[in-house]
Amino acid sequence: MTILDGKKVSNQIKEEIAVEVAQMQERGEKVPHLAAVLVGNDGASLTYVGSKVRSCKKIGFESTLIHLPEDTSEETLLKQVEDLNANPDIDGYIVQLPLPKHIDEQKVLMAVHPDKDVDGFHPTNFGKMALDMESFIPATPFGIMELLRRYNVETEGKHTVVIGRSHIVGRPISILMSQKGKAANATVTLTHSRTKDIKSLTLQADIIVSALGVPNFLKADMVKEGTVIIDVGITRVPDESRERGYYITGDVDFDTLKDKASYITPVPGGVGPMTIAMLLKNTLLARERHQKK
Ligand code: NAP
Repeated sequence: MTILDGKKVSNQIKEEIAVEVAQMQERGEKVPHLAAVLVGNDGASLTYVGSKVRSCKKIGFESTLIHLPEDTSEETLLKQVEDLNANPDIDGYIVQLPLPKHIDEQKVLMAVHPDKDVDGFHPTNFGKMALDMESFIPATPFGIMELLRRYNVETEGKHTVVIGRSHIVGRPISILMSQKGKAANATVTLTHSRTKDIKSLTLQADIIVSALGVPNFLKADMVKEGTVIIDVGITRVPDESRERGYYITGDVDFDTLKDKASYITPVPGGVGPMTIAMLLKNTLLARERHQKK
């Protein structure tokens, strides 16, 4: 069994980006600038955004954090998005999800200019991705593809079962893995909460991408020997014995599956760090594309 070490690969990717940024600086060019908009004080969101901003600093990007109060109106947020769209200094930005309930998430994501949509959530980017056109690929599925590529995991002709059909993970990864190309050309089955007898499908899978957010959902009796297992799930489980009051776990019963899988991602240290690395990659691409215009 091989661990798909997302932490190690994400560090490699960040180092590669840092080299490109240093070369940009040497040529006297503007370095990529990523902005993040955070509304409210959700614990997980604060952690994710903090980590994104720190990563920017490490690799030489400029970064801006716009932290708005929980009671920010939809109108104010949309105005903020407009300002970011119009600001030539910002190459790309993200609006950290989830947003407070009184704000229409879809309305906000639709307002992000597709050329600055480094999360790849805008319908223009999603549509282009589905049509094999140049776009921004959502960072988590982009990270999974990159991890498979860098470990030379064979995907061609393999049966991939994706669990979860969200717009940010399950659905895009099912599209990407069924496309032509490296780490793709797979035969994909997309499953969700209405799928009947998921076990009968996962037992046929050569590759499983689990993205539902239910701890220990995927167990050893649900997979065959030699399966590639990608665990996207991140759940905070309350645990008073730990200093921070919780621990992080994935969707996969790692201890029982690690001896059955051919490749497996750990949680933490698998898909999570890859997501941040690919957000940075998208920001670099945004800078390069803006420069060409
Ligand atoms: P989501 O929007 O809540 O979608 C969950 C999906 O799982 C839905 O399609 C749902 O089906 C399906 N599902 C739920 N229970 C199921 C069950 N018992 N059997 C089969 N399918 C079931 O979640 P998400 O945003 O995609 O995130 C999924 C997990 O990945 C979460 O733990 C999240 O924290 C994590 N995540 C990690 C990263 C990372 O960087 N590693 C990035 C994003 C998300 P229905 O559509 O029928 O409701």
